[in-house]
Amino acid sequence: MAKILIVLFPDPVGGYPPNYARTGLPEITAYPNGDTLPTPKALGFTPGTLLGCVSGNLGLKDWLEAEGHTVVVTSDKNGPDSVFERELPDADIVISQPFWPAYLTADLIEKAKKLKLVVTAGIGSDHTDLNAANAKGITVAEVTYSNSIGVAEHTVMQVLVLVRDFVAQHRLSVAGAWNIADAVTRSYDLEGMRVGVFAAGRIGRAVMERLAPFDVKLSYTDRFRLPGEYEEKLGLEYKESIHELVKDIDVLCVHAPLTDETRGLLNDELLGTMKRGAYIVNPARGAIADRDAIVRALDSGQLAGYAGDVWEPQPAPADHPWRSMVHNAMTPHTSGATLSGQARYAAGTREILESWFEGTEIRPEYVITQGGRYSGTGAHSYADEPENDGKNS
Ligand code: NAD
Repeated sequence: MAKILIVLFPDPVGGYPPNYARTGLPEITAYPNGDTLPTPKALGFTPGTLLGCVSGNLGLKDWLEAEGHTVVVTSDKNGPDSVFERELPDADIVISQPFWPAYLTADLIEKAKKLKLVVTAGIGSDHTDLNAANAKGITVAEVTYSNSIGVAEHTVMQVLVLVRDFVAQHRLSVAGAWNIADAVTRSYDLEGMRVGVFAAGRIGRAVMERLAPFDVKLSYTDRFRLPGEYEEKLGLEYKESIHELVKDIDVLCVHAPLTDETRGLLNDELLGTMKRGAYIVNPARGAIADRDAIVRALDSGQLAGYAGDVWEPQPAPADHPWRSMVHNAMTPHTSGATLSGQARYAAGTREILESWFEGTEIRPEYVITQGGRYSGTGAHSYADEPENDGKNS
């Protein structure tokens, strides 16, 4: 029997369960590339309910305990006295979400002598030191595609929010004002703008497909070039590098994983090569951007706006400068945590656990590290020398 440590965000301030705005979720039968949705043998929750908080427990606790496992669910995750660090040394499995990540550093992995499986309930496993996980032969898995479309929708929303200057206009409206002149001095149409997408994976492609009908000019870069007919259908221009990509675009959307290669990439130097008044939307990872360089570029007018929903660290401290910098349209890390996304990644987490306990293969698209090496999606999207699994086609 295993000890499973589940780190989740705290319950709603108003108590659990909340009052839901709607009942149920629309039916989705497959992901855009034909991959099937999660297929666990059973669900321990009602889709459309809040699952990612402690009381929601991803719908896993009753099932795991009935199977004889020991389950600890907590939101207390930071520092040596936290429940997470105290319970870690004899845990076999750790589960957390990128929205409230349990940071598994190399030091903590060293202390977690029994750890064999780390599951990201969601997408993006950079909160685990993946090289340290490989060194210890720990399997890291995530629920690939579970919330990619939700993040793409959030990205399109934030592009429009920035370009049209929605936040300032909304504030005037709430304040009882009607000063149209003030409201429109930073407001533009998206039509005709050049939009560049950094990394054309599941999210990047979904963003380009959703933005193409706005009659924008799309360009992208990725370690793997997309097929010619796909580029032609959306009118995409391929650029060899992010440096080439950012030169003449009006809007940059960032959808690469956080790796040694992408950390700190959006720095003073790169931002300085962009057109004055460009916008950036980054729902990938906060650490891909240099925090203070973004603030400087907004202050100087080099950037006209910055949005996204990812911060470093998470939760972001109350005095994080991105909360108050000018022309920001930040949200807390919510784009992939809709009730719709939660239902899919909770089901996918259960599917991964079922495979693990049965000793059957975890779907390759869910696997980041296995047997001491990057594997599956990890080999494609995280490894220094990536393997093309054809998933960009
Ligand atoms: P994906 O694996 O489908 O795509 C990642 C793409 O990045 C791949 O096409 C890969 O080739 C490319 N890539 C990797 N390193 C690169 C580099 N150095 N230069 C250029 N391209 C590179 O993943 P996805 O589902 O599209 O998600 C992308 C990222 O978005 C995740 O890793 C995660 O960090 C983030 N994410 C955020 C949320 C959220 O809620 N905000 C939710 C899901 C994912």
